Amino acid sequence: MITNKQTYSEADSAPDSNHISHFSSIIYHLLKQYWGYDDFRGIQREIIESIGAGHDTLGLMPTGGGKSITFQVPAMAMEGTCIVITPLIALMKDQVHHLRQIGIRAAAIYSGMQHSSILQTLENCILGSTKLLYISPERLGSNLFQTKLRHMRISFITVDEAHCISQWGYDFRPSYLEIAKIRELLPDVPVLALTATATPQVVEDICDKLRITNDELHANQNSEFEVRNSFAVFRMSFERKNLAYLVCHSDDKLYDLVRLFELTPGAAIVYVRSRRHAREISEHLCQAGLSSTFYHAGLDHADKDFRQREWQHDRIRIMVATNAFGMGIDKPDVRLVVHYDCPDSIETYFQEAGRAGRDGQPAQAILLYNNSDNAKLQKRINDTYPPKDDIRQIYEHLAYYYQIATGDGYGVAHEFNIEEFCLRFRHFPVQVNSALQILERAGYIEYDEEADNEARVKFLIGRDDLYRLDQLSPDEDKVIVSLLRNYGGLFADYGYIDESIVAQQAGIPQPQCYDILKSLSQRHLISFIPRKQVPYIRYCQRREDAEHIVLPASIYEDRKEQYAQRIQAMTAYARSTDRCRSRMLLEYFGEKSTKDCGQCDVCLDAQGKTVTKEGQRTAKEQIQAILADYQRHHITEILRLPLPTEEINAALDSLVSEEHIKLNDGFLQLV
Ligand SMILES: [Zn+2]
Repeated sequence: MITNKQTYSEADSAPDSNHISHFSSIIYHLLKQYWGYDDFRGIQREIIESIGAGHDTLGLMPTGGGKSITFQVPAMAMEGTCIVITPLIALMKDQVHHLRQIGIRAAAIYSGMQHSSILQTLENCILGSTKLLYISPERLGSNLFQTKLRHMRISFITVDEAHCISQWGYDFRPSYLEIAKIRELLPDVPVLALTATATPQVVEDICDKLRITNDELHANQNSEFEVRNSFAVFRMSFERKNLAYLVCHSDDKLYDLVRLFELTPGAAIVYVRSRRHAREISEHLCQAGLSSTFYHAGLDHADKDFRQREWQHDRIRIMVATNAFGMGIDKPDVRLVVHYDCPDSIETYFQEAGRAGRDGQPAQAILLYNNSDNAKLQKRINDTYPPKDDIRQIYEHLAYYYQIATGDGYGVAHEFNIEEFCLRFRHFPVQVNSALQILERAGYIEYDEEADNEARVKFLIGRDDLYRLDQLSPDEDKVIVSLLRNYGGLFADYGYIDESIVAQQAGIPQPQCYDILKSLSQRHLISFIPRKQVPYIRYCQRREDAEHIVLPASIYEDRKEQYAQRIQAMTAYARSTDRCRSRMLLEYFGEKSTKDCGQCDVCLDAQGKTVTKEGQRTAKEQIQAILADYQRHHITEILRLPLPTEEINAALDSLVSEEHIKLNDGFLQLV
């Protein structure tokens, strides 16, 4: 496993020291100049200096650890263009937008972009004017990119969400394997791999797949720097001291959910499995008088943006969402993340729960769990890995659906309507989805559930007529000027536009810009095709006969086994009653010497046997919060508080004896 590359050892560091101190002063200067910070946080500086010295580097940082600084700063400090590989298109656009605002030349290439703008973007990189080029992994394999890449000066390659390269990981993406090929084209360019979630096995696999060599991997608690051969690993503890992990056994989740929100103030996210659930639960919360909205991948862009903004700016308190919600969300003051349905891996749970309390203030991550969840999780194994014969049958039906004869179909992309397909061939969407993903891994098709099609605009009237129009409002005028300034050729043909850029340049909010574009379109001044996501399927091989479809163990049996193991780990977490939750999570990610957190349900239960002052105080506060309306509340309501019974009892005794509350016929009331 250990191979070539420039070696870096303690002995080499001495001649480097001048270079390092010069580099250090540059990065501090850049940090202040562009980001306005005086100092780096956590392990940022160590990672930056390592990549700056040309070493392959792996950074393990929890979400919110300030990951983007670790590649943006050295990209500015080093000659050439930094390539940033990330699967998250929304995040990519967001970062490019932000970088441009602070005066840094950044660009992005992703699916759905017009050929000419890809070409222009790549040419700019060759000219050397781009400091950061974001690219989605599936674009790496394109001939155009690889040809142009040879003419670019690349400072280093950043691999964001690096765990996606591991087949052992919970979020494996085959397109990540292209990165190894890019490394072959650029053998002397160092790689910076970053991830916020990786078990020790996945860390090993990332290094292996990226051909970053490693022979020994150690970790200690806080910041960690290991140099072995050509490989530096920096690890930041994943411990979240302000976040209390709680598992609440709940036989009536809807009831308990409402109670949780009555007890805990502040912004919250509720994660659910299905889109239907997201809508229904949000409606239920609204009926209970709570402020709530919902979010899932099936909503259109404008709607998603609107809902996210309402929540982000505290106009709505609770977001009920599927896992589609979260990527690139940066709301620091989320006080509560509730998992209504149990996720299928610790990795997913940890990432989603970790969205609470980014501001460092106390926050809670609560998993609602009951015995039926276990059966549901077990069922998910077979849903995710349907029998091989079913997969073959779905492949065959796909060929009927598109009318592709055996031996045909290579390279052609088709839009895919899963509902229609399921209706016609009597399948369930869950299994079809899983089967298509397995066929993709086996290399037969490419299946993109959320292929992004940019918004498009074409002017329907001539330039001269446009200037003669007098029924335009000032805002409409601004939008048209912004379109003309940013995009050429819109009078001749449809051009792709970025609604956020048009809105920004016009100086009006994006939803309003969207409404104006629609209104101009209705008046036949322009034709506007909004941005939309259309699932598509592309055949990567000629159509085979179904019986010749090969699904090797590495794609089917092995992965099914790993999936079952992840579910097993998740169930073990949910059902455990004797190990600190925080400790269990950290140990899963390879952190050894962790202490009990003192605030999870298990720790609290253990303490409850000897009631602490702190626990009693918390119980008092929560009881008083319930009684704050001066109404009568039955004692059972108080006893349902997610706190140790001993603490509740001690708090009640104390409140009654101090005459803060009175107790009558099992009812409590504030005095
Ligand atoms: Zn604990």
